[in-house]
Amino acid sequence: MGGLAGTAAARPAQDADLIIYGGAIVTMNEAQPSVEAIAVKDGRIVAAGAQNDVLVKWKGPSTRLIELGGHTLLPGFIDAHGHFMNAPRVVTWANCSPAPVGPVHAIPDIVAALKANVEARKIAKGEWVMGYGYDATNLAEKRDLTRLDLDPHFPDNPVMVIHVSNHGAVLNSSGLKTFNVTADTPTPAGGLIAREPGSNEPAGLLMETAFMPIFAQVPQPSEDEMLDLLKPAQQIYASKGCTTAQEGATHAEEIDFLRKAGATGRLYMDIVSLPFVAEVPKIFRSYLTTDNADKLVVIGDPSKEFNVYKDRLKLGGIKFVIDGSPQGKTAFWTKPLLTGGPNGEKDWVGQPLFPKETVEKLYSGATQKNIQIWSHANGDAAIDIVIGAAEKAGVKAGDDRRHVVVHSQCMRPEQLDSYVKLGLSPSFFTEHTFFWGDVHLANLGEERAFFISPAKSAEAKGIPFSNHNDFMVTPVDPMLMVWSAVTRRSKDGVIIGPDERIDVMTALKALTVTPAWQYREENDKGSIDVGKLADLVILKQNPLTAPIDEIPNITVVETFKEGRTIYHVDQKQGWLEPASVGTQVASRGGRFVADDGETAPLGCRCCDGRLAGAAHGAALAGMQALLASNLLA
Ligand SMILES: [Zn+2]
Ligand SMILES: [Zn+2]
Repeated sequence: MGGLAGTAAARPAQDADLIIYGGAIVTMNEAQPSVEAIAVKDGRIVAAGAQNDVLVKWKGPSTRLIELGGHTLLPGFIDAHGHFMNAPRVVTWANCSPAPVGPVHAIPDIVAALKANVEARKIAKGEWVMGYGYDATNLAEKRDLTRLDLDPHFPDNPVMVIHVSNHGAVLNSSGLKTFNVTADTPTPAGGLIAREPGSNEPAGLLMETAFMPIFAQVPQPSEDEMLDLLKPAQQIYASKGCTTAQEGATHAEEIDFLRKAGATGRLYMDIVSLPFVAEVPKIFRSYLTTDNADKLVVIGDPSKEFNVYKDRLKLGGIKFVIDGSPQGKTAFWTKPLLTGGPNGEKDWVGQPLFPKETVEKLYSGATQKNIQIWSHANGDAAIDIVIGAAEKAGVKAGDDRRHVVVHSQCMRPEQLDSYVKLGLSPSFFTEHTFFWGDVHLANLGEERAFFISPAKSAEAKGIPFSNHNDFMVTPVDPMLMVWSAVTRRSKDGVIIGPDERIDVMTALKALTVTPAWQYREENDKGSIDVGKLADLVILKQNPLTAPIDEIPNITVVETFKEGRTIYHVDQKQGWLEPASVGTQVASRGGRFVADDGETAPLGCRCCDGRLAGAAHGAALAGMQALLASNLLA
């Protein structure tokens, strides 16, 4: 004990702002895995060591003292991949997800969640009541929710309960009436309007093309309202101990919005934004001009915009998207699925989203500009494309480029060797073993399914990997991530790859030290060490000593960003008042409509397979515009 207390002794004696002591402190630093106390001053950790040393040297009359007791202190969790801009859009909606993600076991639970939301938000008659996370497969009634379930409880409000896939919703009669969905409404191609038995009356559920145009018309909050929603939106993260969040495929309008949020002091945690590759020409339009001969020329160096925080927002690299999702069967594999394609195709291997050559040219360009690349790749053939692009770009492990392969789910074992050679770092998605493990087993067979997110094999080869929730594909929940990485247990109780299970400490590293490294912030974040930012979380129990199946139930007591409380379980002690916002309808934002009129979907733009149709064409055009722009040349 006390190793770094000596460092503290060499500093001039000062009063710390905060001292935390008297319980388990997990530093995530292998050289000094635990300490008895830490002191915080001006947002940074100034001492970490023996309790007596820290108290004697740093305790003053104004120092806040926190005695941990049975609680445990850890570095704040770092969101390695997710889509922050979903948060202000859903934060005012009712959580209608099945347990353990939400409170729902049966249809009355959905009604109760919606009613509680009406009360909490004081939703007036006539205004929309919104819910999310609806999933009929887990309902005790074993049938879909219908308008008749909702009508008696919500006679005066339109109601929309969005499906967990974000591809559909159940509406009550008032909601259906608002959009004039009637017995006479034809079912559009590629869509579904559920009808009542023995009649043509809509039952409530609308999916795909029957849903998307309707969703786009749901009233939107104003920009000011959206800005105010950022406060409760960040609580989604802070309440789970996260101090850095990712916006993992950001569009130009969203970057403008986040910059405005930062400039007006609304960000109280760090946000790492990864501009979506197709949006780069729009985002950096101020760097482009035309010369006398009408030729496009670049002024200045756009790569300087990356990797610097301004008002808590930084651009952390460019987001590439190579394929779709494995559960949606839109990923790209080398060997066919055992269950055919999404529309019954035989020998289905999926397909890449964009031409390989386009990806390779852009990958080389960004690498030459020293811009970090985050590539969404789920299937092994998509991962081959990333590996090939990195090879063509001349990437080598010694270059320390830290290009990340987001998801890296359906890997072949030898692809890990390519990661070693090229210095590619995966961000795994181990919760897939819980949420979709049984689906993957059926689609891929045991050998391939058991190697999904191969964390143990990566660890054995010394490959640094992070783990992510891909909010809001799954909820922000670091402890559920740890549990899934340690157990790999599916909903049906199958261990999806016993050989790829990792220990709790390794699972915690994937939420702290490694994402800090992937963000090139390892000198500031990821562990409790003198000199680093005081981004911290106090957990009710110690995940290292708790029974494994108790880990998902571990709650957060307090979260600190640079020494400042940004969440406290007893809100009276936090500086943030509980979420209280004027608008009850946050949607995916009419403001964030792409050029082709397609709104940005909830969930993961890449993983949920929504980069189809017009949105796909717009994205490819954006990538070609980037190639033509010379921004990366
Ligand atoms: Zn994603
Ligand atoms: Zn993705």
